Amino acid sequence: MNELYQPIETLAGVGEKRAAKYHKMGIDTPFDLLYHFPRTYIDFSNPLHIADAEIGEPCAVKCSIVRKMPTAYVNSKLAIFNMIANDGETDFTITLYNNPYTFRAIQTGEEYYVYGKVQGGFTRREMRSPQMQKCENALLLQPVYPQTVGLTSAMMRTNIQKALTYINDAVMETLPDDLRVKHDLVTLGAALRGIHRPKDPVELAAARHRLAFEELLCFQLGTMMLRHRSRAQSAYAMSPQTSLDAFYNGLPFTLTNAQQHAIEVITKDLCQTAPMNRLLQGDVGSGKTAVAAAAAALAAQNGLQTVLMAPTEILAQQHLQTMTDFLAPIGIVPVLLTGSTKAKEKRAIKSKIADGSAQVVVGTHAVIQNDISFQKLGLVITDEQHRFGVAQRAALAEKGGHPHKLVMSATPIPRTLALIIYGDLDITLLDELPKGRLPIQTFAVTGGYRERAYGFIREHLDAGEQAYLVCSMIEDSDQMENLQAAESYAEKLKTGAFSNYRVGLLHGKMKPQEKEQVMAQMKSHEIDLLVCTTVVEVGVDVPNATIVLIEDADRFGLAQLHQLRGRVGRGSVQSFCILVTESKNEEARERLKIMSRTTNGFAIAEEDLRLRGPGDFFGSAQHGMPPLMQAAFSSNMPLVSETQEAAKEILEKDADLRTPSYASLRLAVLSLFRKNGENGLN
Ligand code: ADP
Ligand code: MG
Repeated sequence: MNELYQPIETLAGVGEKRAAKYHKMGIDTPFDLLYHFPRTYIDFSNPLHIADAEIGEPCAVKCSIVRKMPTAYVNSKLAIFNMIANDGETDFTITLYNNPYTFRAIQTGEEYYVYGKVQGGFTRREMRSPQMQKCENALLLQPVYPQTVGLTSAMMRTNIQKALTYINDAVMETLPDDLRVKHDLVTLGAALRGIHRPKDPVELAAARHRLAFEELLCFQLGTMMLRHRSRAQSAYAMSPQTSLDAFYNGLPFTLTNAQQHAIEVITKDLCQTAPMNRLLQGDVGSGKTAVAAAAAALAAQNGLQTVLMAPTEILAQQHLQTMTDFLAPIGIVPVLLTGSTKAKEKRAIKSKIADGSAQVVVGTHAVIQNDISFQKLGLVITDEQHRFGVAQRAALAEKGGHPHKLVMSATPIPRTLALIIYGDLDITLLDELPKGRLPIQTFAVTGGYRERAYGFIREHLDAGEQAYLVCSMIEDSDQMENLQAAESYAEKLKTGAFSNYRVGLLHGKMKPQEKEQVMAQMKSHEIDLLVCTTVVEVGVDVPNATIVLIEDADRFGLAQLHQLRGRVGRGSVQSFCILVTESKNEEARERLKIMSRTTNGFAIAEEDLRLRGPGDFFGSAQHGMPPLMQAAFSSNMPLVSETQEAAKEILEKDADLRTPSYASLRLAVLSLFRKNGENGLN
């Protein structure tokens, strides 16, 4: 057995304590450590003269150590180590604090690269606590690793250096040679060495490219294999004779063409024995819930149970309400099951689920726990899929035979990316809003306009409308001191600008019942202005709300802003979105401009893709995606299609990756999916 796969504590230089920290980060073997990629690199290849460096900015300087000064002990807790360095032109001071080991190791007369913020005045410059490395055997591109408390980048560099020596190029390769050559990729060993200890940017780029290729390829192989397998299973085929007329007649509105089309497509799927795996992608407010209800109605008429899963309790509660409104007219009474359902009630609901009298079950992920068994589960609908991710999709696949699956997402994703992220699903778009909706008017303003915005909100509250005020944090915290914290913000508004109005507060740290209560109050208009964090982001539906003001809007991604904005504009009254930002950052401003320009979620997603590359779509934990870190920094669409083609080609030859030359690749695919909780592939 190769050293790479032994416990991390067997790696020279890793003691018990450090091993424990590695385990905590999910790094259990030297191999795992090699896949802990640098966050960034410090570039020592073009050092500056310290006199040319900007005060307050970090920079790299090459210098020799002229003299080490006597240690100054300020008190028992603070020891200061000073030395004088010279960069060939000027002397400057390097100061280390409480770091006798580093200080002792530094040799007078030797040359060092130092990296840190330049401080001091015109006469004498200095660097405090810089990174230092001796020029001989220096890494000109020094990796900086994502860290955890007590594990510095320097420690990781040392440990990784050791782990790299265990690589056996002949053994360690996931890609068959012909594939590697065809796509012009360096070997895995070379890529790992290149990402951790690059000689130069060219070597680094080749390493990243190879790792990105592999990660994307594995992901695509995995989703394609899932898709393939699920097609081979069999679900209950519903009867095409069933009529939904009674359901349509009970609805309080006529369906849009897009909704009707989606229902047709879904009906067709449900009448097949191959399990449906469909993504219903609809912009916020496009009315996905009504489509879900239609599918549930069809299932119920066929004697099959439906589960509708929401990512939060608030949404589950809301869906119960909506589904009840839509389904009660045809005699279906949905039940609710969430993590906070009381034990006694839960028992009763569970037995209803088991005997089939609960035809439609709405809930959070509690619904797919092992102790819940269905009499005849025919359809599983998950709402706001991006919160569930690939892992839960697979967990669901295990539940009650092979139910049909409908996944609803309100995060518009450019089609090219959707094909990958949801590679195991067929896609239907709801690209039409119900009639009579006015496009939301959006403004980006600076904090100076806040008072005016408050006045504007008050006018609308006076007219009987409601508003959301979104801030990004719930507590005051040091690093983010200028963020408007929801709690103190709400307090300030209650006693200040909105003292004559009913101000509510909603944030993620509240108990589920408290949240529900607040949302219920918002729905029944016992609250005029709801101060909240992004818990309202997904799905919350209060048609009477017409203004959403978002503080520190530049801190949110476009998709998230779009979601937040989607909380208004859900009725027939003109709605507004006010984005408050103090950011001077060009890209941030450009993004907010896009928000003002369009309300079409797909257009926004395309713009986001253009601005930031696919990294954000893949990388964001929101999609429950494997962290395609490498792909994230290479940000390139051609690679995405290249790997997609490659994956197709491979699976056409060998649908299960059973040929020996694919053995390592197969393992890589499985491990990528296992890492992310995926258990549907094995
Ligand atoms: P989303 O797609 O964002 O989940 P919802 O399903 O919450 O949207 O629907 C948004 C709102 O539009 C709800 O109040 C819903 O009752 C209403 N709605 C849905 N379909 C229609 C329609 N065809 N005509 C009018 N209103 C509709
Ligand atoms: Mg919804």
